[in-house]
Amino acid sequence: MTLETVRNELSPVLQVGGRYTPPDCNSLHKVAIIIPFRNRHSHLIHWLRYLHPILQRQQLDYGVYVINQGGDGTFNRAKLLNVGVVEALKEDYYSCFVFSDVDLIPMDDRNSYGCFSKPRHLAVAMDKFNFQMPYHTFFGGVASFSKKQYMAINGFPNNYWGWGAEDDDMHQRVLLRNMAVSRPSLVIGRYKMIKHDRDVHNEPGHRNAAMLSRTKWTMDADGINSLAYNVTNVEKDKLYTFITVDVGHPK
Ligand code: UDP
Ligand code: BGC
Ligand code: MN
Repeated sequence: MTLETVRNELSPVLQVGGRYTPPDCNSLHKVAIIIPFRNRHSHLIHWLRYLHPILQRQQLDYGVYVINQGGDGTFNRAKLLNVGVVEALKEDYYSCFVFSDVDLIPMDDRNSYGCFSKPRHLAVAMDKFNFQMPYHTFFGGVASFSKKQYMAINGFPNNYWGWGAEDDDMHQRVLLRNMAVSRPSLVIGRYKMIKHDRDVHNEPGHRNAAMLSRTKWTMDADGINSLAYNVTNVEKDKLYTFITVDVGHPK
C-alpha cells in the first residue's frame, strides 16, 4: 500500500494530526501514541494501516505522534519518546501515553492501547521471540504509562545512544519507584514485527549496558527534567503528527 491509499481509506474518520474521538461514547483516556522514527517509511505505512482501525475498535480517544530523529547521528529511541510526551502535552490534556516501535503490529484486538493502574508492557509475545518473553523483565517494543506513572519515574533516560538497554532502564525506573508492571497474557499480547536489519547509526550502544547498572543513581537527574532538543519541523497529516527533532549527539 502507499501512504496515499491508506490516507484515502482512513481519513473520513480521522481529524488532522491522526486524531480520533469515538462518536458514540466517552473514552476513559485521552491517549497519545508515540512512535520513535527515522527512515522506516514502509513500516509506518503498515503501522498506520493496521493500528488506526484497531485503536478505533478499542474506542480510544487518541492522537498519533511520530517523532522523527533529524540528521544521521546516532539514534536515541528513549529520548525521542520523551520528546513525544512533551510535544503531545503542548497540544492537549493527554492522560495516557503508549510508546510503540514503528514495526510492531498487535495480533489481538483485546490488547488494549490504554493505561492501567500499573505501567504496562504490551509487546509480550513477539513472533521474532517465538511468541514468548525473551527474558522475564523484558520491557521492549510497546509500553503504556499514565501521565502520573510517567512523571513518577522522571520519564525515560536521554543518554542511551544506539541500540539496546534503554527499555531495560525504563523497566528499572518503574521498579525503583515501587511500581510493578502489568502485562496481557501471551495469547492476547501477540505481535508481528515487520522483518528488518539493524539500521545504520543504531549500532549497539557500547556504554548502554554499563549505564543500566547505575539507573538508581542517575534517574533523578536524567529524564524529563533534563530533556533538551530542538524541533526543526512539524507536519500535520490526517494520519499523524510528524515532528522532526534535533536530539543532539552523545556527550
Ligand atoms: N527506529 C527507527 N529508525 C532507526 C532505528 C530505530 O525508526 O534507524 C525506531 C523504530 O520505531 C524501531 C525502533 O526504533 O522499531 C526500535 O529499533 P529496532 O526495530 O531496530 O529494534 P529491535 O527490532 O531490535 O527491537
Ligand atoms: C536489550 C534490549 C532489547 C532486548 C531484546 C536486550 O539485550 O538490552 O534493549 O529490547 O535485548 O532484543
Ligand atoms: Mn524492530
